[in-house]
Amino acid sequence: MATIRILSPDVASKIRAGEVVDRPAAVVKELVENAIDAGSRLIAVQVAANPERMIRVQDDGAGMSREDALLSLKRHATSKLASDSDLEAIATLGFRGEALAAIAEVCRLTLSTRSADDLSGTQVEVLGGATLQVQGVGRAVGTTITVEDLFFNTPARLRFLKSRDAESRVLSRVVWSYVLTYPAIHWRFKVEGREDTDLPVATDLLERWQILYGRNAAEGAEAFEHETGGVTVRGVLAAPEQARASRDHQVVAVNGRVITSPAVGAALRQGYGNLIPPDRNPIAVVSIEIDPSMVDVNVHPTKREVRFRDEARLFHAVRSSVENAMRRYVPVSMTGTAAGDAARAEGGPWSPGGASTPRSAGQSAGEGHGGVAVAQAEMDGLEVARALYAPPATGAGPEEIREGDALTLRENLSESEIQIWQLHDRYLLAPIRGGLVIVDQHAAHERILYEEARARLYGDQSLSQHLLFPRVLDVTPDELDRLLLLEPHVRRLGYEVSLFGERQVAIRAVPTSVPEEAAVAALQSLLARDESHHDSAGDPPEEHVAKTFACHAAVRSGQALAPEERRALIDRLFATDLPHGDPHGRSTYVRVSMEELDRRFGRR
Ligand code: ADP
Ligand code: MG
Repeated sequence: MATIRILSPDVASKIRAGEVVDRPAAVVKELVENAIDAGSRLIAVQVAANPERMIRVQDDGAGMSREDALLSLKRHATSKLASDSDLEAIATLGFRGEALAAIAEVCRLTLSTRSADDLSGTQVEVLGGATLQVQGVGRAVGTTITVEDLFFNTPARLRFLKSRDAESRVLSRVVWSYVLTYPAIHWRFKVEGREDTDLPVATDLLERWQILYGRNAAEGAEAFEHETGGVTVRGVLAAPEQARASRDHQVVAVNGRVITSPAVGAALRQGYGNLIPPDRNPIAVVSIEIDPSMVDVNVHPTKREVRFRDEARLFHAVRSSVENAMRRYVPVSMTGTAAGDAARAEGGPWSPGGASTPRSAGQSAGEGHGGVAVAQAEMDGLEVARALYAPPATGAGPEEIREGDALTLRENLSESEIQIWQLHDRYLLAPIRGGLVIVDQHAAHERILYEEARARLYGDQSLSQHLLFPRVLDVTPDELDRLLLLEPHVRRLGYEVSLFGERQVAIRAVPTSVPEEAAVAALQSLLARDESHHDSAGDPPEEHVAKTFACHAAVRSGQALAPEERRALIDRLFATDLPHGDPHGRSTYVRVSMEELDRRFGRR
């Protein structure tokens, strides 16, 4: 039988050290956080090809006196917490005072430092927690910590490490995360044989982002900032078409601390709505500022995760600020609908999550999709119908509501010098300011009709065109059931349907936005159980109705469009709230920049 032994303090401390420093990336994280806490303006990280062999972090921060340098390597020695009550509102990245001690226990560590008050610096060498040497050194103000032979005395830990490449990648991610969170710091990052980057102080995050990711990858990325309920969320959001399969390109920071947070990740994803396919993740930096007393950072050994006192509020803040930014994110359109876009960005009622989606600050959740915004959507819907299809029966009404916008739009539509090509009756090609845009005609129309349908379903207006001769449809008992269920919704869309005998219904009016044939076909697919759109299965009925209607009423791929119809489609697409994707998350258009074309033709 095994006997129970009490672990020696030495072993116990190594186990705890292993919690804080479990891999080379964790060492880098702790050292970088210390350098940031020290108020550094320049931080240089240097790593050997095999990170366990050598990691060095050098800074120009406050530095330490000889006394402090020796203390800093002791457990629970910290300059950052004076009393217990400080623990409730931590403003620095460090606070436990155990990182340096923990690291020093599992490697050969050299600490060299000088504070501004001292004429010369101090160098301390520690091996496996034992101090080998302390001496004076001449050096600049700041601190350099070199970690060599990591885990040399804890072989078990070494075995847990992934491949050298994998460790190196994780380590790089840690550095890049801080580089993106702190654009006002000058960073140098060098990995032997792999990486050598010098990133001078950037004027803002977007500039840092562009330098880091390169001009092309950064194209379409936008900075955002939004305050709601005492939470400030800012950062950069990449264009939806840049979305990736993994979440590796997301940085989340709370009060300057880089964390992993599934909740924030999910809120970010939801903020992009159906602009990106379900299995993709946006590239983004999300930096959250919140009252420190609302966050508990003391829940995870490496402080990688934090707990929020009011997670729902935070979730809402992140999602609504991303949603907001996405609404504004209207690409360079061929015609200057800027005025209309601005008005829309302020009042745009559309939110991807469905009727219950919380609104942004200032709007209560219960507020409907009424008023001006709906009027706008109605009007635009009419406008496209007019240009895309035959003129509607009546021409009165909505123009009166927003005459100014209608005029702008009409002027834009009449800008006829822009050529739009239709490729194989499927794609529309149009020149834009910076290059070329390629639009999927069906997906684009689907987006347009979807937004319009939603505006009607959640709003209080509907526009119908009464049919001269009612259309009579044969229906199965199942279809009749579904009609009874959906009738209030399809009525809002603009349909007027009534029973006509036992097995028949009569359609007396259809929405004005689409031609009669398309409207009837869309209603038929709404009644037939539609298995082709599983993604709307769990949606509220309005959402299901809007998606199905949009999908079946939109112009088909393979349908030839007249030049005015092409132009109207593109104009209308870029006037929607979220032009990038159809309601199922497929792209509606692809942009090709002049730079890319120039590159392909070897012009640069
Ligand atoms: P914590 O960061 O939780 O306080 P650490 O063990 O990481 O604990 O560091 C201990 C102390 O050493 C810090 O509180 C700080 O006073 C000092 N220190 C560590 N790194 C640096 C640095 N790069 N520049 C100045 N002081 C530092
Ligand atoms: Mg620390």
